[in-house]
Amino acid sequence: MREDGLDVIIDKIGNIFGLTGQSTGKNPIMIGSHIDTPNNAGKYDGPYGVIAGLEVAEKLRNHPSQSRRPLMIAAFTNEEGVRFQPDMMGSLVYAGGLDVEMALNARDLDGAILRDELRRIGYSGDMTPGAITPHAFLELHIEQGPVLESDNIQIGAVEALQGISWQRITIGGKANHAGTTPTRLRYDAGLAAAHVITFLRRLVTEYSSTSVATVGQLAFKPNSINVVPSQASFTVDLRDPDEFRLCQLEQALDAYLGRLAAEHCVIVETERLARFKPVVFDRGLVEMIVDSARSLEYSVMKMTSGAGHDAQMIAHICPSAMIFVPSRNGISHDPAEYTAPGQLDSGLDVLFDVVLKIAK
Ligand SMILES: [Zn+2]
Repeated sequence: MREDGLDVIIDKIGNIFGLTGQSTGKNPIMIGSHIDTPNNAGKYDGPYGVIAGLEVAEKLRNHPSQSRRPLMIAAFTNEEGVRFQPDMMGSLVYAGGLDVEMALNARDLDGAILRDELRRIGYSGDMTPGAITPHAFLELHIEQGPVLESDNIQIGAVEALQGISWQRITIGGKANHAGTTPTRLRYDAGLAAAHVITFLRRLVTEYSSTSVATVGQLAFKPNSINVVPSQASFTVDLRDPDEFRLCQLEQALDAYLGRLAAEHCVIVETERLARFKPVVFDRGLVEMIVDSARSLEYSVMKMTSGAGHDAQMIAHICPSAMIFVPSRNGISHDPAEYTAPGQLDSGLDVLFDVVLKIAK
């Protein structure tokens, strides 16, 4: 950002912003995404949208019709939520959805505190999150799913984003000898956890084709080959584009956990890690994306995002929308994540065209 002549500002939650042409006094057009990734993941999820912002800033500098609005390139802190929860933390704090001091107190599994970690890496800034209200926000991102590729479409105009429910469930049973404890006298937390996992699959399969459920993290205590687990702790990720359906799923899981506790004589505790309602993006911006894609002769479709994104947070403070480009084989959060250079360029073309339209 500095090499490109942008004014770099860091806010208190570590969000990084690069600003151009602040002298106009107008609210900036914000473009961005995040640069953190899950463990051993790909290189496109996130950085593509930030680097595209830098490209737009450069293209605009060399463009004859000077933008009448400044640009604000954003790299939001901790979008993935791998180490500190909740996910989409930087944009959530920026949009006023979470108090910055509370967010800074987040601890990782080793007990490290986010506040200290930001200081340690030199990204604990002065700016109050949310101090600059964008005129509009655009996030360019890989789809992270198979829809665009399978329909042979070049550009996705994202009009909505599904709701996300994250919780941690801890089941308490009783540790005992794997050889001497008869099956009928076991209070097996691991078995109870397995029941929850299969219940979730059955639930979403029977309930709605739009619902998905994932248990992505699971840990046993004492975690020994010859001991019945006394504790199973695991995460549940539930998603649906409809808030009512997402609530129904949560309630069904709650009811099931109650029955499970009684039947297996185990103690079940739940902890809410994150909860985001579905988001509908700005209709005008979505139409602009569609129009830009068409005028540039790219095939385009409106779609719902299956993943969470910073744009869903920023949508609370300004008109926002997202542009998707295809992901090869729909793979993301994996080193095999790939989008061809030509496809990356197509997304950038559309983003630049929309920025020109908004700036005018
Ligand atoms: Zn992302």
